Amino acid sequence: GAATAASAPQADRRLPYQDPRLSTAARVDDLLGRMTLAEKVGQMTQAERADIDADPAQITEYGLGSVLSGGGSVPDPNTPEAWADMVDRYQRAALDTRLGIPLIYGVDSVHGHGNLQGATVFPHNIGLGATRDPRLVERIAHITAEETRATGPQWAFAPCVCVARDDRWGRTYESFGETPELVIRMETAIDGLQGRPGQLDRPDRVLATAKHFAGDGLTSYDESKAGTGAYPIDQGVDQVSREEYADLALAPYWPAVQEHHVGSVMPSFSSVDWTEDGLGNPVKMHGNHELITDVLKGEMGFDGIVVSDWQGLRQLPGTYADQVETSVNAGVDMFMEPYSGSSTGYPQFTETLTQLVQDGRVSHARIDDAVSRILTAKFELGLFEHPMTDRRFIDQVGSTAHHRVARRAAAESQVLLRNEHRTLPLRSSQDVYVAGSNADNIGNQAGGWTLTWQGGSTNVIPGTTILDGIESAASGDVTFSEDASEPVPAGAAGVVVVGETPYAEGFGDVGGPQWAYDPGDHGVARPAKTMQLSEADTRAVETVCAEAASCTVLVVSGRPMEISPDLLGQIDALVASWLPGSEGSGVVDVLFGRQPFTGRLPVTWPRTVEQEPINVGDADYDPLYPYGFGLRTHGHAHR
Ligand code: BGC
Repeated sequence: GAATAASAPQADRRLPYQDPRLSTAARVDDLLGRMTLAEKVGQMTQAERADIDADPAQITEYGLGSVLSGGGSVPDPNTPEAWADMVDRYQRAALDTRLGIPLIYGVDSVHGHGNLQGATVFPHNIGLGATRDPRLVERIAHITAEETRATGPQWAFAPCVCVARDDRWGRTYESFGETPELVIRMETAIDGLQGRPGQLDRPDRVLATAKHFAGDGLTSYDESKAGTGAYPIDQGVDQVSREEYADLALAPYWPAVQEHHVGSVMPSFSSVDWTEDGLGNPVKMHGNHELITDVLKGEMGFDGIVVSDWQGLRQLPGTYADQVETSVNAGVDMFMEPYSGSSTGYPQFTETLTQLVQDGRVSHARIDDAVSRILTAKFELGLFEHPMTDRRFIDQVGSTAHHRVARRAAAESQVLLRNEHRTLPLRSSQDVYVAGSNADNIGNQAGGWTLTWQGGSTNVIPGTTILDGIESAASGDVTFSEDASEPVPAGAAGVVVVGETPYAEGFGDVGGPQWAYDPGDHGVARPAKTMQLSEADTRAVETVCAEAASCTVLVVSGRPMEISPDLLGQIDALVASWLPGSEGSGVVDVLFGRQPFTGRLPVTWPRTVEQEPINVGDADYDPLYPYGFGLRTHGHAHR
């Protein structure tokens, strides 16, 4: 017997948790039973790559369960192979631990694997909402998953399932739209990322995250904060009844959990105003036991990972220990405590949580629940069998086939708002005059969460600008003059591309921090965001509309922008282009009728910012263009 055992094949010497023939539940139970408190707490901890990159042994030392790339935190060089090498290097450090528990790597793949140079960059969600095409959204999410997983990360902090109710919010473009019905239809994004149940271990799928739970898009604009440097709306308070909250904030989470089996949920930085934290303030979501534990995990039956947002626990009252205690006990399972700072951060988190358990302030049962959820995801992702990156699809990153889908998505996302004298589609034989700040700028087309957190106003990623697209579509002469200072040739059609520069989170709040740091402009401060066109863009529209044979205005922006009645009267055709991503050529496909306009407004288009918040169903609803509006054209591809 002893001799046989000694020479038994490797397979039979495996511990139960290492045996893929056993059920996930049995493997989790076995592994949990072998873990020390420190090892369990380590699994609940997520660090940022910038902090551990110089010394991945910290992963081994703390037994970290996860590492993330915050927006723009990328390997150098920023290439697919370097990403995969980086994640594998961290993975080896995780496998060096006593029990060899693999880590899970998370990244904000919110419109493609946007942090990776060369990845396919799709329209932001607001444009996808305009397509009303759930199958396309699923396909895009699948491509995103493939490009993400092939380069290492197995976890995407997407999709945002917020219902955006006030366009002054800087994250409006991360929303599929202003109604829960539309957001819910687009939750096919979760299927695209994760595949069907049981497919998470495939090399083209990632764990998805429904965020931000719940009511991130429902916060009230706080006038008193406008211009003070604080965010007037992002991370604010939902001033709504429980009924409205259920209808607008919680509604998308029921199908996300029960039909799409989303693997993780991220709490919001916001709060609801019927709660009270003991200091007279509403309870921040990272400490909301009722919503996270009773509603999400209880009523909805969510059995995946609740992953905190960036330093989310620090928004809670009290000492650091109080904050950790409240958040863990509220039901958060994994903590994005990115840096090893002096008094907060992942080393302090692990030490503090261990102490809290020893002091009886956090129960062993709560820890075991959190760790079980994390281990379950890791088993389902197949990380115990295949911890290293399966690179078989790495050549697909930014492939022609993927760009074709991005181009189609850009085309389908265009919403035609006005089309006097059948200005659109343009005929390819026409001479075209092109102007405006966003005509020749891929960075502005792509928006925030592109290579860096705030995005950049230069041609930061490969692709085609709208000008490039027009130049290849038009057989007539194309003249480009950004500020419309060049004379308009007689008979030329005019296309003016106006809109916003990139932003993310609070930095995009209308009336928000008066001067915001803009990494895309090399750290130059810039004025607060408004919903008005810049003076330069307005002048360009006026000039071209006065001088050209026809004028078409494309608004490239993360939300509706004000178009005054006077200006509108001068415009022949008006298009909401949203943030179409790297494929300006897709925008041009509908402009020249190679494809018809089919997009419909995912949010109401107000007359002025004073109408905000404005949403379909409001009693005094009187927008410039209502929710769902969108004119149709017929393509004339073969003319
Ligand atoms: C954002 C999240 C994001 C996280 C990690 C936070 O600031 O709110 O949406 O997933 O950063 O980058």
